[in-house]
Amino acid sequence: MLARSEESITRQDESTEELDWSAARCRDGAATMLNLFFSDQLDDIARAKAICTLCPLMEPCFEGALARREPWGVWGGRLFFNGKVLAYKRKRGRPPKNAPAVQLTA
Ligand code: SF4
Repeated sequence: MLARSEESITRQDESTEELDWSAARCRDGAATMLNLFFSDQLDDIARAKAICTLCPLMEPCFEGALARREPWGVWGGRLFFNGKVLAYKRKRGRPPKNAPAVQLTA
């Protein structure tokens, strides 16, 4: 788990300063969502992304995180991991020995 301040979650670059970041859904004034947005747990990450999907600042948040090269966390509904945007995060540990069968449909 990463320790970040709530201010860091809603910190944005200069190009987005004119936006009303008080409307950010992750900003509750008590930093209660930090653990969700900077968690390694898949269910926490999914919950953070779900919160972002209803946020009016989703796109500028994501663009700002890209511009700042955020290394970690959920920003604008997307997961940053080691400085890269991941489509999804795998579970910890080794992959299953027998991969699940893939059903092809025509
Ligand atoms: S898009 Fe997500 S991380 Fe960005 S301000 Fe909104 S709720 Fe917070």
